[in-house]
Amino acid sequence: MTYFSLNHNAPEVIFEEAVVRGLAPDKGLYFPKTIQQLPESFFQNIENLSHVDIAFEAIKQFVGDEIHEEDLKSILKDVLSFDFPLVEIDKNIASLELYHGPTMAFKDVGARFMARCLGYFNSKNKNTNKVTVLVATSGDTGGAVASGFLGVDGVDVVILYPSGKVSDIQEKQLTTLGQNIKALEVDGVFDDCQDMVKTAFLDEDLKTARTLTSANSINIARWLPQMFYYFFAFKTLKQKDKKLVFSVPSGNYGNICAGMMAQKLGLPIHHFVTGTNANNIVPEYLKTGNYQTKASVATISNAMDVGAPSNFIRIEALHNNNFTQLKANLSGFSYTDSETVDAINHLKTHHDYIADPHGAIGYLALKNYMTQHPDSYGIFLETAHPIKFLPVMPEQIVNNMEMPSQIKSILHKEKKSTIISDYKELKEFLLK
Ligand SMILES: *Cc1c(COP(=O)(O)O)cnc(C)c1O
Repeated sequence: MTYFSLNHNAPEVIFEEAVVRGLAPDKGLYFPKTIQQLPESFFQNIENLSHVDIAFEAIKQFVGDEIHEEDLKSILKDVLSFDFPLVEIDKNIASLELYHGPTMAFKDVGARFMARCLGYFNSKNKNTNKVTVLVATSGDTGGAVASGFLGVDGVDVVILYPSGKVSDIQEKQLTTLGQNIKALEVDGVFDDCQDMVKTAFLDEDLKTARTLTSANSINIARWLPQMFYYFFAFKTLKQKDKKLVFSVPSGNYGNICAGMMAQKLGLPIHHFVTGTNANNIVPEYLKTGNYQTKASVATISNAMDVGAPSNFIRIEALHNNNFTQLKANLSGFSYTDSETVDAINHLKTHHDYIADPHGAIGYLALKNYMTQHPDSYGIFLETAHPIKFLPVMPEQIVNNMEMPSQIKSILHKEKKSTIISDYKELKEFLLK
């Protein structure tokens, strides 16, 4: 499979190169040159297939022959070693829980897949440089990347996070793993971390010393596996005759964009809904036709505090850069923090369900759409376990919540981080 840059000013590359590079040299996002629909028989038979079989069929055209079929299957088996339950909340409404992986965030699947692909390519090309994955995190991404890459041969991971600005659980997830994972605690805010990472990618001295790559959802190996969730939900779904609608709480729009790729492959999705917090760039665009990025503002659903969604350009490409076509396939709504807390309380009181702030926004957006379209079957994506957002959850709900084993096992571990305050210190660290 070849990939081209959506900035149209860089050479086409194969899957391996797109994964190693992350971003194209013209700073564009990579996009597959062809997209082949899956046969109808695949969807008719999906209930009889395992998660690994489904994932394999969905992703194999995007990998091509660069990973042997048997190896790709064993990578997928390893990546998908946990559940993706579809929990019915109300008549015609279900929550797709994507938080049963090692760090309890949906990003686990993409991070684990990308890590194993890089590990595979490293062992295939024995004499190449070690790859260094450099990531800035405001909380959730870093933990998933750290855990996904732990112990992968030939890959070092360096994570930058803003000191004192991530939750205790998130910090433990970043700083206690050891081995090939290094945490840098930045004296600053998330944007400072992000700026340093961007500077590093442009630094010629570093480029000669190390192969640097990123692990956010611009990387195709992190983005594409997210389409599996939509196939898994469809497999489990009992009422396959209803109009299927997915509501996705969105920040960088990687997850929802992967759902649209699943739709392109033939999965019968009728419509998408995006829920956002105050960072409402896409809902505003759908309303006004005017795409206006902004500086991000802080909210309680902080994994979605994004003012310039990086994957939106891929969504446009999937809709032939046609606003009317996009509007017919996507609705968007945004919510304040207090509406989000009200939804968490409502779900607990009326449906005995505990949602995290991101999932709660997905629920609100879905309800909003379904008042106009009551004949749909709606699924909202629950993107993180509520325990990861303890400080902003309503107290009476949190009090009765049990600590999951994935979290319990890291709380007593010792934090190891290196404090840095500027780019010079990051560079010294990377050249060491
Ligand atoms: C990253 C994240 C999101 C947003 O996903 P995008 O693919 O960036 O749109 C939503 N919820 C949680 C919990 C996340 O960690």
